[in-house]
Amino acid sequence: MPPEGGRSLADLLQLVVVTLVVVMALAVPVIHFDVQRRYLDGNLTTLSLLTAEQLMRQVIARNPELWAYEQGRIAGLLRDQVRGVAVRQVVSSEGGETVVEIGTPLPAPLSTHRQWLFDAGRPVGALETSASLRPLLRDSLLLALVLALIGGVGVALLCRYPLARLRRAERDIRYLAEHDPLTGLLNRHVVEALFERESARARRHHLQLSIVIFDIDHFKRVNDRHGHDCGDRVLRQLAGLVSRHVRASDYLVRWGGEEFLILSTHTDLAMARTLVEKLRRLVAAHDFGLAQSITISLGVCGCMPGDGLHACVGCADAAMYRAKRAGRNRWCEGDGVDSGAEGADA
Ligand code: GH3
Ligand code: MG
Ligand code: MG
Repeated sequence: MPPEGGRSLADLLQLVVVTLVVVMALAVPVIHFDVQRRYLDGNLTTLSLLTAEQLMRQVIARNPELWAYEQGRIAGLLRDQVRGVAVRQVVSSEGGETVVEIGTPLPAPLSTHRQWLFDAGRPVGALETSASLRPLLRDSLLLALVLALIGGVGVALLCRYPLARLRRAERDIRYLAEHDPLTGLLNRHVVEALFERESARARRHHLQLSIVIFDIDHFKRVNDRHGHDCGDRVLRQLAGLVSRHVRASDYLVRWGGEEFLILSTHTDLAMARTLVEKLRRLVAAHDFGLAQSITISLGVCGCMPGDGLHACVGCADAAMYRAKRAGRNRWCEGDGVDSGAEGADA
């Protein structure tokens, strides 16, 4: 498997959308609260001014019944305008003692407006008009909850489809970048990363790693005699055949043209020898549906800890060319020892 390429674009997009929804869910109630509070403050100011004017006309606290009636009426008007807000007014005389108070005590926090009262230019008391901000806070909190819920469900529903498509597109692009379209095998671009990862793992756990390179013998003749399409079919058949006979922990790569590479993990040179001989026999015995048989020549190299990819591939490649020169349909190993040669040139 190729290594993971960090956080994907789809994950990033999802993160951005979720962050936006959370910020909105937090910001909208704050704005809502502020707008409502300003509106309430404006109303409190108007109410205080109105009341103060009436009070001054009637002379403060001389006629408490009329005062109470007027206040109740105005507070009622305000309540109608600002839903759920209780209003209370307190009139203080010069001595600071409360003369008239309307409404029940209000729960904090309060928004209060103070209006001074004058008699012949002399301050005679103050009128305080208060409203509790608690209903506004409760409304804003409720709004935050509803928004977070709608946002959560909305993100889940709205993002699901495009994000799934984006993920699929990412997967497809990655697949195309890492696989050979003809055979469906991994392509040579991924080998470097695979080798880095597997050789590091092999070093860490004291495991062996081998590389095999094989090439179809006289493949040009297949194309020349049976056509390019038939050559393609042989390549696909060969890829399928070999991939069914290597271990799940082995990586089979189309190295180029009619040349393949196997990165065989947990495999020392002795095991790799068994593998190449098995593959050589397997291919030579397989019926590709052609008049001629198909054979491969293989080179195998047991990688040493610290060996780089190019050294290992060069070693296996050189071995493979020795097998070609020695007559094809055979394998050689990378340390220069030719062995296991069997079968005739195709
Ligand atoms: P040798 O035994 O020395 O390997 O001989 P060969 O004929 O296999 O080698 P050569 O390099 O002369 O020819 C390889 C041929 O493989 C030539 C090229 O057209 C063919 N080939 C490479 N890639 C493809 C492919 O994707 N499809 C088909 N049909 N042919 C391909
Ligand atoms: Mg060839
Ligand atoms: Mg070749």
